[in-house]
Amino acid sequence: MAWRSSGATNEVLVANLAQNGMINSDRVKEAMLKVDRAHFAPRSPYQDSPQSIGHAATISAPHMHANACCSLLDYLEPGSRVLDIGSGSGYLTAVLAHLVSPGGTVIGVDHIQPLVDLSTANFKKSPEGTNMLDNGTVKFIKADGRKGWAEGAPYDAIHVGAAAKEHHEELTTQLKAPGRLFVPVEEDGDQYIFVVDKAADGKVEKKRLYGVRYVPLCDAPKG
Ligand code: SAH
Repeated sequence: MAWRSSGATNEVLVANLAQNGMINSDRVKEAMLKVDRAHFAPRSPYQDSPQSIGHAATISAPHMHANACCSLLDYLEPGSRVLDIGSGSGYLTAVLAHLVSPGGTVIGVDHIQPLVDLSTANFKKSPEGTNMLDNGTVKFIKADGRKGWAEGAPYDAIHVGAAAKEHHEELTTQLKAPGRLFVPVEEDGDQYIFVVDKAADGKVEKKRLYGVRYVPLCDAPKG
């Protein structure tokens, strides 16, 4: 089903994702139209599949980016604070930044410096991306995302783009009340998307959604 959404241009890809029910919000559609995936995927940018970006990382498939934004949407308003862990290419960071503009902030965290540099360089391919870096809407940081990024907390929304071995409670701690975390977690030898909601009264609820295949949220490579 996902592959049917591929197109020859960014516009056609986004339109196909919407038509196939992968995007169920006009706001997400508009944000994805504002970010040219060709600036972030090294080849076949408008194909609805993951692509290698080097360093054992991948830019996730567009339907997964769309799904993550739709899941977090209630917490993505102009002015919201967002943490994007495992920011890789920076593509999703860019879509999230459009969803929280004006006035919001997105912090992208990756533990591989060349990928932090890649996402920054990808942003600089467009005037809007350059502007978002210059005015502090977006920041890229090298850190171990399993600990979140306490300096920027609390967050309305946290997205994790790599599969965690366990539920890292520090991420939930860094959520606002209310706030939402979207995270793939390993369970029973498979990976599942979990949505963790922190209610206004601080009560936390974890929901297991569907099976996925992400690169692991792991130790940084040595050297
Ligand atoms: N959202 C990104 C996904 C990149 S793949 C995109 O679509 O482009 C997952 C990323 O998680 C990789 O860039 C990898 O370097 C990063 N990663 C893995 N373990 C990590 C950790 N412990 N801390 C921070 N980043 C990590």
